[in-house]
Amino acid sequence: MNLRTPVYLDHHATTPIDPRVLETLIRVQRDHFGNPGSGNHAFGWAAARLVEEAREHVAALVGATGREIIFTSGATEANNLALWGVLRAHAPTGGQLVISNLEHEAVAAPAAALVAAGYELAVAPADSQGRVAAAAVQEAMTERTVLVSVIAAQNEIGTIQPVADIGRLCKERGILFHTDAVQAAGRIDLDVEAMGIDLLSLSAHKVYGPKGVGALYVRRKNPRVRLQPLLYGGDQERGWRPGTLNVPGIAAMGEACRLARAEMVAERTRLEGLRDRLLGRLETELTGVVLNGARAGRLAGNLNLSFGGVRAHSLLGALTVLAVSSSSACTRTDSGPSAILTSLGVPDDLARASLRIGLGRFTTTAEVDFAAATIIAAVTKLRAS
Ligand SMILES: *Cc1c(COP(=O)(O)O)cnc(C)c1O
Repeated sequence: MNLRTPVYLDHHATTPIDPRVLETLIRVQRDHFGNPGSGNHAFGWAAARLVEEAREHVAALVGATGREIIFTSGATEANNLALWGVLRAHAPTGGQLVISNLEHEAVAAPAAALVAAGYELAVAPADSQGRVAAAAVQEAMTERTVLVSVIAAQNEIGTIQPVADIGRLCKERGILFHTDAVQAAGRIDLDVEAMGIDLLSLSAHKVYGPKGVGALYVRRKNPRVRLQPLLYGGDQERGWRPGTLNVPGIAAMGEACRLARAEMVAERTRLEGLRDRLLGRLETELTGVVLNGARAGRLAGNLNLSFGGVRAHSLLGALTVLAVSSSSACTRTDSGPSAILTSLGVPDDLARASLRIGLGRFTTTAEVDFAAATIIAAVTKLRAS
């Protein structure tokens, strides 16, 4: 077996660029340097056409129209623009925001900053399976609620949220609904119309595209969402995100989204098979394996496992041939238990013993078998010592 190590099993943190996407990135960077804002000549027109084609591919992945896509520097910016942009435009004198306790920092932190700026915040809790019921969101709403933001698929435990139910609830009340769909995009069906989504954040580097480019879907009608920009300095992206567009990154994101949509069903089936193979081996050959988050209704490539009696810190130390994580990459330096797992009621010792495994497009059966054998050996050894 000639595996290259370390084996990359951290696809929630980022994904490698697909060679087909890299080809687009290089081609556009090399051949199309024009500014899409240059309306007077062919260099500008060619760049503008590439951006508009990409916009259609990004939109198609979530059932939107190209005109509703705003390109950003990534999902962190998209989430900030959604939260700050909506609250300041729709509730300049104050109002309430509802988020869940499963949010990524890129939603939780701007929400906290909005509180510091005088807005009200309520946090809807997930159940022990890692799902935020629409009823929990409803409970958190007040007559001052302006916006609800709930993650579509969670980045640590992979649980898929009842987005359509939450969307319906928001529609009934005339409240705007944003979802961070970074982990969900290209992995589950997303349709902003059917799901009642008004704003949705995407990141290219989580769908085998380049880093530093993302998008925010902003509904144009029923209702027409307004935003206050975070940046000022030009009329690009309807003035909501000024600055010369990252044409190669945007074209590559378009290609990444096109591929993700075309290959989603086949890729999901393949990943489910690999994931079940890995989990099956671990559960057969080890005792005390706990799967955190619901068994059904989770992303095909996700496993979040606790191994009773073993600290994730020691386990990661013994697993240097595997690139896995103990919690979200952004809180890697924090040795405390994952706040997400704690919020599900996972006891501290098991939360500290958790491992997040993220399989992806290029993960092979041989790699999964190698991962299983490596984890089994490490856990057995650590438990014996
Ligand atoms: C990675 C990630 C982000 C941040 O995306 P960037 O494009 O890196 O800013 C936001 N939300 C979720 C759920 C993520 O997994």
